[in-house]
Amino acid sequence: MLAKIKTQPMKNPDSPSIASPLFNAVLQCMCIATAVAITSSLSPAAWGLEKSSVSIQQPLVHLRNQEPREWASFPQQPDAQQLDLQFEATANSTPFTLTLTQSDVKESWTVSLNSKPLGQLVRDENKLQTDFLIPTGLLKTGKNQIEISCRKNAAADDIRVGQMSIHCTSPEILRGRSTLQLAITNPNHIAIPGRITLTNQLGTLMPIGTKSGNGLAIREGVVYTTTGEASITIAPGEYRIIAGRGFEYSAASTMIKIAAGETVKRTLVLERQVETSQWVACDTHVHTVTHSGHGDCTIEERMATLAGEGIEFPIATDHNKQIDYRPIAESEGATTHFTPVVGNEVTTRHGHFNVFPTIANGKTPDHQLLDWSKLFENIYGTARVRVAILNHARDLHSNFRPFSPRHHLSLTGDNLDAWQQRFNGMELINSGAVQTDSMELFRDWCGLINHGLHVTPVGCSDSHDVSRYIVGQARTYIKANDRDPGSINVDAALDSFLKGRVIVSYGLMVQLEVKSTDATASHGPGDTVSISPRAASTDSTMLDVTATVMAPHWSHPSEVQLFVNGVPRFTADLRSNKKTNQSFETTVKWQIPLEEFPHDAWLTAVAQGTGIQSPHWPTAKPYQPDSPIFESRTFSCTGPIRLETDGSGKYESPRDYAKQLIDQTPIDAETGKPDLPVLAQALTKYDEAVVNQTLALLLDQDIEPSQLIAAGVGKRGRAFELQWRQATQARIEQRE
Ligand SMILES: [Zn+2]
Ligand SMILES: [Zn+2]
Repeated sequence: MLAKIKTQPMKNPDSPSIASPLFNAVLQCMCIATAVAITSSLSPAAWGLEKSSVSIQQPLVHLRNQEPREWASFPQQPDAQQLDLQFEATANSTPFTLTLTQSDVKESWTVSLNSKPLGQLVRDENKLQTDFLIPTGLLKTGKNQIEISCRKNAAADDIRVGQMSIHCTSPEILRGRSTLQLAITNPNHIAIPGRITLTNQLGTLMPIGTKSGNGLAIREGVVYTTTGEASITIAPGEYRIIAGRGFEYSAASTMIKIAAGETVKRTLVLERQVETSQWVACDTHVHTVTHSGHGDCTIEERMATLAGEGIEFPIATDHNKQIDYRPIAESEGATTHFTPVVGNEVTTRHGHFNVFPTIANGKTPDHQLLDWSKLFENIYGTARVRVAILNHARDLHSNFRPFSPRHHLSLTGDNLDAWQQRFNGMELINSGAVQTDSMELFRDWCGLINHGLHVTPVGCSDSHDVSRYIVGQARTYIKANDRDPGSINVDAALDSFLKGRVIVSYGLMVQLEVKSTDATASHGPGDTVSISPRAASTDSTMLDVTATVMAPHWSHPSEVQLFVNGVPRFTADLRSNKKTNQSFETTVKWQIPLEEFPHDAWLTAVAQGTGIQSPHWPTAKPYQPDSPIFESRTFSCTGPIRLETDGSGKYESPRDYAKQLIDQTPIDAETGKPDLPVLAQALTKYDEAVVNQTLALLLDQDIEPSQLIAAGVGKRGRAFELQWRQATQARIEQRE
């Protein structure tokens, strides 16, 4: 059906409501009747603007610019490829407004009236209402036509659009009739920065008359305020207002009904629900349209969004630029809320890397370099740079995917092109570009840690926008003094970051502590815990592992897991612990006999939950989905805790063990290669992470996984063998 529509002007027999409804006379009469100014009285007529607007199309229509279906939440068949709507009207002698409701808009869709573009749909998957100015004289007396169509060659995009009406007044007047004076405070009545979300009763984000400026960043249904106060104008009507302040705070909501000419005042009180003292809230990946040239958030608006989401340590990472937020933070009055760091998203054809700190407007790393050895040499040779994060490693940019099976073995962290992996951080959650499989990058990271690399796990937002993707939604908590967010010690925070003293947070926060029963000190992410072999041989010695999961009342944790060498070992179900409308904090304790760690290992905790639905903090759909089926998940994990249990005096990674085992294996006189049955026998004392690393190292000697598997490793080598086969296939096909 769709193919037919593609090749001819849209006439959809299945959707008579959008085919050619002629609203003859209706619009004409209404407009004439209401050309006079709207009454400012509080009469019921004023609530809904009945007299000043007319609906030209009611139901939401499902459009798909091209196959295939983008999301399984849409029907198999769309209503049409584009919308063509005809209606009758009379010529407008003053500016009018076209208002419509849209959702799931990802690509560039243009709205035209009588072949003149009015503008584009807002590129935002959230359901929102938006306005288009109809210039004087564009409406014709008689037949008029609205067209909504997607840019040619755009990726497949399923959208919904409808609830279209024309108002006989300009957007400024329409959204300027009523005034809302809002304040966000803490329980001590002190104003705090935050985000105000304005929806109708159905949860649709509603247009706001006021424009950004004076410490406010404003989009459809969204107002970020640096001061905690906001005076905005809106159309009369009924609204739901939700105030929030990012992950750590409660959300407060209220309903209002406001008439034309009326001013309504409300104060919404937020409480801190997630205790994060000594953990600095960092977003390592922040853009502005001012310096990156895409998205919509200006550098001034960025200050309000950072303050409003409670980010204390933002890294400015525009593409191949080094921008200092500080002067703008000063002019916007935001300096007490965060300590900005100058960084750079080194955007190469072989991957994107967030590097910091850098010198504002100073010499940038050479983003033309393709060879990773030269690139990292260049990056770390750039003045001040200490951190280089591998960004969105599973996404395709410039036809290159860093962690494509063509280049990378996920299980063992091997680069198949023998490129140096000198990044010291890696994005596990990029909330602006989440993965269909929310654990995929986590597993990739486990491979790197098993490989013996020191790579700090990172959560970040990659936000280019005010509201489409929320800045700081995924974030990294860094162990450092955060008493004064306006003057965080950058060096100390980066020391901590590089040691892995971090918690990745995306709607949840998990803390992990490890203590052996014969020691007093407890250890956290980034630490190496030494347990003497003597103690290890004592029956009573146990490892006390404590995971604490925290979340605000609007986030819903489902489970927490303890991973050992990248494999889940224990799982605790958290669903019954959550009480509606209360913040969440649950501690899970595991006591593990030390015999269960016959060799060194590393731990991390992972918490997961259901994606956030609340309009004040909705989690996004994948940027480059692998599947039309998607279930949004929240996530948190910790930096690694390394356990030194074998008495060697230093922590050894699975890679280290694999090297030692191969070195110790006698050479088979016949093949001139390690005696595989002997090696397989030695591996029985080691876990699967060591087996995988051994299999990876043997590839260098042209020993295939199947050979060691046949020599005695058995099914413990199958997962690696499968990945290696897939990699071989991807390399033959040159498939990213
Ligand atoms: Zn990027
Ligand atoms: Zn980016």
